Amino acid sequence: MRVHEKKEKGECGMTARILDGTKIRDAIFGELKDEVAILASTGIRPGLAAVLVGKNPASEIYVKSKIAACQQLGMGSGLIAPAASASTAELLAIVEDLNRDNDTDGILIQLPLPGQVDTKRVLEAVDPAKDVDGFHPVNLGRLVSGRPGLVACTPAGCMEILRRNEIAIEGANAVVLGRSDIVGKPMALLLMHANATVTICHSKTKDLAEVVRRADIVVAAMGKAGFVEADWIRAGAAVIDVGTNRVTDAREAERLFRNFPARLEKFRAKGNALVGDVHPDAVNVAGAITPVPGGVGPMTITMLMSNTVKAARMRRAKAIPRTISAGGPASSGGR
Ligand code: NAP
Repeated sequence: MRVHEKKEKGECGMTARILDGTKIRDAIFGELKDEVAILASTGIRPGLAAVLVGKNPASEIYVKSKIAACQQLGMGSGLIAPAASASTAELLAIVEDLNRDNDTDGILIQLPLPGQVDTKRVLEAVDPAKDVDGFHPVNLGRLVSGRPGLVACTPAGCMEILRRNEIAIEGANAVVLGRSDIVGKPMALLLMHANATVTICHSKTKDLAEVVRRADIVVAAMGKAGFVEADWIRAGAAVIDVGTNRVTDAREAERLFRNFPARLEKFRAKGNALVGDVHPDAVNVAGAITPVPGGVGPMTITMLMSNTVKAARMRRAKAIPRTISAGGPASSGGR
């Protein structure tokens, strides 16, 4: 499937193709619905169990939208909501139960966990076959060696954006800004397996602007609003902006939206705005760019659903042919 290009003349003479994550989400949801129906015909209903500890409003919203996505796709879902005082031992017992439950294909531990809990121990207790967040060292190891496994959702979603927009990866110079375990590192590995030449940057990288200027593909995952200036971007480069930063400072908003009067006006009315790690002016230089919001954001839940279906297929339905290609090193142009 080729996602239709949206190339617009916007308020500041926009030139880049907009890589619309919501359209890709809709396409993948369509494919997943078909796959869920095929699995259902063999008596298998992919199921996701979410563990939400305590009462964190942001986490509650995230979990609610993940459960809603399961319902939309005809998948099973369950919510286990221990009190904020839950201990590591209690959470390990919950994870053990879910590991044993045959109807649970994916286990999602909503982060952050309260301070008294050993988060790493809880995440590592999840059966790697049900680790739909792709955080388990076994799945990270599989990713390093290019073997099939469950891949972290956000970087897997970035790869889908590149692939479904037919952006050439093989031989491209790719620069990944950020080296976290959940975004930067897996992203760099996925790009490498897809035969890009990858440079990973972090807070100690020297001459960051010069490194970015050599990139055909830039993936920004730093968590710094509009940090990557438009003149760092090579003309025609593809920009995947993972950053989701809420800006509340008026001077910062003026710096970011100086060429976007409508966005500035909206900021003034609301008192805040969501921006990526790449300055919005980059839309005038890049060949293709993900918007924030509406680019990488919708892909994270999408790939969580894709991973849950994949986990069901790998664990329970090995013999059933797959219908979609989303979500793994092998499907990302890799080995
Ligand atoms: P993180 O764990 O805080 O990692 C940030 C990375 O950026 C680190 O590797 C850090 O380098 C690097 N960095 C920070 N300042 C830098 C600088 N001045 N120059 C170069 N590198 C710098 O963040 P994360 O979890 O990977 O998330 C990154 C961003 O993506 C955040 O905005 C987050 O909200 C967003 N995100 C979005 C989604 C989504 O669904 N759209 C999902 C996940 C994350 P060091 O390693 O040297 O400290």
